[in-house]
Amino acid sequence: MNVDARDDASADALLDRSVATIVECVHAGDCAPTDLVRAALHRIRTRGAGPDGLNAVLSVDEEGALHEAQRLESTPRDHAQRLAAMPVLIKDNIATHRLPTSCGSRILEGYVSPYEATAVRRLRDAGAIVIGKTNMDEFAMGSSTENSAFGPTRNPLDPTRVPGGSSGGSAAAVAAGVTPIALGSETGGSVRQPAAFCGIVGVKPTYGRVSRFGLVAYGSSLDHIGVFGTRVDDAARVLEVIAGVDPHDATSINHAVPSYGTDADASLAGVVIGKPVEYFPESLDPRIRALCERSLEHLRARGAEIRDVSLPHTALAIPVYYIVAPAEASSNLARYDGVRFGTRVDGDGLRAMYEATRSTGFGAEVIRRILLGTYVLSAGYYDAYYRRAQTVRALIAQDFTTVFASGVHALFTPTTPTTAFALGAVSDPYEMYLSDIFTVTANLAGVPAMSQPIGRLDGLPVGGQLMAAHFDEATMLRIAAVLEHALGVEAHR
Ligand code: GLN
Repeated sequence: MNVDARDDASADALLDRSVATIVECVHAGDCAPTDLVRAALHRIRTRGAGPDGLNAVLSVDEEGALHEAQRLESTPRDHAQRLAAMPVLIKDNIATHRLPTSCGSRILEGYVSPYEATAVRRLRDAGAIVIGKTNMDEFAMGSSTENSAFGPTRNPLDPTRVPGGSSGGSAAAVAAGVTPIALGSETGGSVRQPAAFCGIVGVKPTYGRVSRFGLVAYGSSLDHIGVFGTRVDDAARVLEVIAGVDPHDATSINHAVPSYGTDADASLAGVVIGKPVEYFPESLDPRIRALCERSLEHLRARGAEIRDVSLPHTALAIPVYYIVAPAEASSNLARYDGVRFGTRVDGDGLRAMYEATRSTGFGAEVIRRILLGTYVLSAGYYDAYYRRAQTVRALIAQDFTTVFASGVHALFTPTTPTTAFALGAVSDPYEMYLSDIFTVTANLAGVPAMSQPIGRLDGLPVGGQLMAAHFDEATMLRIAAVLEHALGVEAHR
């Protein structure tokens, strides 16, 4: 074996190690940024992440990534860089300088943003290297990544199945080992649900914790940027880098960002974890229930008190979400009119141009949401639907406030009611919406939530969800790290 090949092999193997290990190796000068980037680019091909395989990665910036790696190599090593030379993938609705930001839609096909998302800039300032953009449900509307205009993404654990959605490309790529970390977005579970289906960790921070500047808007009062990793600590480190107030996003909040560093051996003595009865209904698959119970047992053994609690308005979350999210989407997507962005399809006059552009540029699910949203906001229906939904949303948020005020530090639930389903198996939109049943509540309430692998069912991953009070990501991540350590290999068995 020549020296180059050996270096390559070690850089390749390094991609499977923790973020902390990779960064340490780069800082010590034992691993060259160009080798790391080449290894990740190589994995896109060898692990079939592109269109001929998993279809997880939509565009790759080989030249830019290698250039960036060379730049890091030729300047003195900066030990303050918390993600030095870390290859990263970005969901296609988060603006990047060099690559298209298509949102999985024909209407934005090939569109390159003139500016970069704050989260991406913060990653790059910390040394991370963007190597590509990932597939997604069009405009983040969906739970399977089957709504992408560029074809569905496949689950690397079983390519006949979906990876979940809408951030399915990022989840599948991280699960396939292409990059150790990736960014996704959430409006109703689009990081946690694909993380659960792909057997990795997905974190949605508090609303306002991470700037959405440069995240293409879907439902503005529900949208978040989130993080994928294969380990709790990896995701925690990325969150720490991207969190914090941003003058470009008026909804970002000036709340100190603590260190999210995790300690897997910490005791959970004094920690109260709520088990909300509404998330363990009679109809829950008994095998998913049993895996959740196993996790709760581990948490109890580490000193946590497990307490039965109730979030009484949970049953209303799906109907409320599917009024509020489409309402906001119908307004946000009005800007794609063939004049300012992306695709234009000419017609006879301005109105015909709008119609032709929007009816050919948008896919069926996006059109359904725009119609639904326009309907619930229209005169005569606004009070009956939108205003009522907002009222019930406040009750759902109040459920969380009440439970966290009662001395409960976090909640534990299943992330999803099922494991990854087969491609094409869920064709009824309403049935698809029901896969978000345990995740939309955290977006409606704005509380931080995450999913981590807690076991397998017929070989497919099952996710456990933790939720915490606003801005208490630290407690949530601390519990998750302890659970991850306690489960050990059981998490993937
Ligand atoms: N599946 C939900 C929807 O289709 C959530 C998507 C998301 O979180 N972006 O709206």
